[in-house]
Amino acid sequence: MILEGKVALVTGSTSGIGLAIAKAFAAEGAKLMINGFGDPADIDRECAELGAIHDGADLSDPAAIERMLRRCADELGGPHILVNNAGIQHVAPVEDFPPAKWDAIIAINLSATFHTTRLALPGMKAKGWGRIINTASAHSLVASPNKSAYVAAKHGVAGFTKTVALEAARDGVTANCISPGYVWTTLVENQIPDTMKARGLTREQVMNDVLLAAQPTKRFVTPEEVAALALFLCRDEAASITGANLSMDGGWTAA
Ligand code: NAD
Repeated sequence: MILEGKVALVTGSTSGIGLAIAKAFAAEGAKLMINGFGDPADIDRECAELGAIHDGADLSDPAAIERMLRRCADELGGPHILVNNAGIQHVAPVEDFPPAKWDAIIAINLSATFHTTRLALPGMKAKGWGRIINTASAHSLVASPNKSAYVAAKHGVAGFTKTVALEAARDGVTANCISPGYVWTTLVENQIPDTMKARGLTREQVMNDVLLAAQPTKRFVTPEEVAALALFLCRDEAASITGANLSMDGGWTAA
């Protein structure tokens, strides 16, 4: 098992991509701290299945992030692996974009990544080994209308990741982004009604003409595909992959 003895903190791992990453890491022997919101009974079941502990830090709150990282160090001795995955979306034209939504998206999708990284990096450097994996998005490379905050945050994550990679390059710590296209999760499902409203389309039109329109493969990426790449980045063979923004978007950004 390639992650035996390693502690992984995966933010936003109570559903979707984060949950798939947590499962893949647990299957390879990692000790896990999971994070995110959800039904307490579901979270308890997930913790039991993965042998994980859960921290419910709201990632828009830097003090809660500090408490989570302190717990991860005190209770598990990590993290060796940090996956910044939590994210939210809101779809509206710039002139109608609610400022509170803008602030929340920047806080959760971008600033939280800074806070977890600044707190986890000293421990990784001291160990001489670390992996920082940020779930960015095809929207870290290209834009779509009505997603100003998300696109700004994800471009920010890509730039931040490159900077961390350079700063940690001599310390055995790599920092990379995985940039999926559309992955079938609740985050995508939830934006369908707003996109229907913003563009005056039916549900089927949003799925086929908006979401999959950009994805030449015409299929959604699966959370398990993203998890498999995250796991590869943790291998010693991935030691030279750092500062990369790895697309997994069915050819979207090749067009
Ligand atoms: P999801 O909605 O299934 O999961 C999001 C997770 O983040 C959940 O665990 C949720 O509880 C958690 N979360 C939300 N707000 C939080 C907060 N304030 N504090 C702590 N946790 C919080 O969505 P997903 O599709 O699995 O998204 C995961 C990541 O993948 C996000 O960063 C998203 O931007 C990115 N992504 C998703 C897609 C896609 O098509 N689904 C594509 C590219 C990138």
